Amino acid sequence: MRVVVVGAGFSGLAAAAALCRGGARVLVLEARERVGGRVATRRLADGTALDLGAQWIDPTQDRMAALVAEHGLTTFPSAAHGRPAVRWDGRLRETPPESVRQTVNLLDDLAAGVDPAAPWRAARADEWDRLTLGGWLSTTAPDPVTARYVGRLIAGGLLAVDPDEVSLLQVLFYLRSGGGSGSLLGMAGGAQQDRLVGGPALLAERMAAALPSGTVRSGAPVRAVHQDGHGVVAHTDEGAYRAEAVVVAVAPALAGRIAYAPALPALRDALTQRMPMGSALKLHAVYPTPFWRADGWSGVTTSADGPLTETVENSTPGSTRAVLTAFSYGRQARDLRRLSPGRRRAEVLAALVELVGPAAAGPDDLVEHDWSADEWTRGCFCGALTPGSWRDHGPELRRPVGRVHWAGTETATRWAGYLEGAVLAGERAAAEVLARPTA
Ligand SMILES: Cc1cc2nc3c(=O)[nH]c(=O)nc-3n(C[C@H](O)[C@H](O)[C@H](O)COP(=O)(O)OP(=O)(O)OC[C@H]3O[C@@H](n4cnc5c(N)ncnc54)[C@H](O)[C@@H]3O)c2cc1C
Repeated sequence: MRVVVVGAGFSGLAAAAALCRGGARVLVLEARERVGGRVATRRLADGTALDLGAQWIDPTQDRMAALVAEHGLTTFPSAAHGRPAVRWDGRLRETPPESVRQTVNLLDDLAAGVDPAAPWRAARADEWDRLTLGGWLSTTAPDPVTARYVGRLIAGGLLAVDPDEVSLLQVLFYLRSGGGSGSLLGMAGGAQQDRLVGGPALLAERMAAALPSGTVRSGAPVRAVHQDGHGVVAHTDEGAYRAEAVVVAVAPALAGRIAYAPALPALRDALTQRMPMGSALKLHAVYPTPFWRADGWSGVTTSADGPLTETVENSTPGSTRAVLTAFSYGRQARDLRRLSPGRRRAEVLAALVELVGPAAAGPDDLVEHDWSADEWTRGCFCGALTPGSWRDHGPELRRPVGRVHWAGTETATRWAGYLEGAVLAGERAAAEVLARPTA
């Protein structure tokens, strides 16, 4: 059986590997000149490595752990020196007030009633999908600062959107899919525990290299997918590739930019119009030393105000310089994006000074990569359904359309939005294809 996979991110590469193991002849068509999708490592002249996209792996992410081992790579723990800091109502403190834990616990309790494979079946699904996280927080959090902080941490930190842009149901789905807030927000023991030596782009390159020679064709954006009773044809600028099935392993927002003949069913096409990508800016400030450690701080900060919601020390073992990575989400990221590079730099550094001290004002380098401006990603960390969309469009996420099957992290039921979810989704789509009656 011949199968075309669209996209050589982790999902497409995992799908291709599983299809090859199942005996299929596979061609992966990748738009960019590189594999990996939402991962990229930039090396500065002195060797300092910066993970511009995904970087962390959670200890419970079994498929990622297996791939790391299979491809001869190793992980290292995220830097953990000193105490975290929280900027709350204009002042720094070591932990957020108890009201934050209580509010987040309420979210976890509600998430327990959501099946991540079918969130629309939750008893209160319609009510939760009409309500935004921001609306829920405004009536549930005990005070406005708690509402703002939890909104920034959960809607921003997990989905890179504003609390008013996302439904409570989408948030509950995401919390459940990633094992709850403790797992998703945690450093040691949670989703931010480990990093990959060499960066995740290296793993993607090794996954691609392990496929039969010639399987991955880069610089080949798929513009159209045509199917009939006999097969399916993927059209690129250079040629047309016939197969018995296609796995589209890109986010729904990008899948909707491919032309389909016959046209996609109404509900599936409407899904692609209702799952925008998040809006995150990830910025790396490089310093001669990790100066924040001198005062006993870890560089891990969260903030209820300002353009940056989170920072983390992101130095790599053996690197001569220290890296502090900052994240801005939703509206704050859009506001930064609109500024000139000089004004953006000034705003970011001023915010870093508030969070980690005056020495933050003068980094050697400040490196940013805007995934929203990247033609083949258009935002991050992932796509999320808009309020009110789960009931009618959620069931279309994984439903094949004839010979076209859907992968990509957005279609995962475990660790949706993460590398692990991407791999699981690719392997699920491959299993579907191999089980097709024609297989
Ligand atoms: C800044 C940032 C930080 C993140 N942090 C983490 C983290 O720490 N841990 C974690 O687990 N996850 C993290 N993520 C999320 C993670 O990167 C994604 O979940 C994962 O990479 C998605 O993989 P994918 O294969 O589903 O999609 P993608 O990686 O987007 O792959 C899709 C591929 O398809 C290609 N493509 C698109 N359209 C076409 C077309 N028409 N024809 C051919 N090819 C096409 C793209 O070029 C791309 O290579 C982060 C993401 C970003 C951007």
